[in-house]
Amino acid sequence: MTADCLFCRIVAGEVPARVAHETDNVLAFHDINPQAPTHVLVIPKEHFRAAGDMDPATAGEVLQAAHQVAKAEGIDEDGYRLVFNTGRDAGQTVFHVHCHVLGGRPLAWPPG
Ligand code: 5GP
Repeated sequence: MTADCLFCRIVAGEVPARVAHETDNVLAFHDINPQAPTHVLVIPKEHFRAAGDMDPATAGEVLQAAHQVAKAEGIDEDGYRLVFNTGRDAGQTVFHVHCHVLGGRPLAWPPG
């Protein structure tokens, strides 16, 4: 746990979140400011700053969990988008890696 990290505090139960899915190593919770009908964040419980910092096993668990969330939310048939914003130019604001699971409406491409 990194004391000043918001998402570590969610993992620790110190900050409330609406949990969508949980395993031993991964937590998924609904985004506080959803950008689509389904907008869930999937994070490793261990603190990593960004996607490229995860070990392959953890990265795989995050992706598997993201797909489980998509199925549970009923967006896997029509399609959904997984996004890892990485760094300032990409708009990363919370520096605990998180996979955005977005769906429930047609999503424009390219993103802004
Ligand atoms: P980023 O911009 O770093 O890719 O995404 C951070 C996401 O975290 C944003 O979509 C933002 O709405 C979400 N977020 C920020 N603070 C909280 C919070 O306290 N709870 C939840 N559930 N989501 C949060």
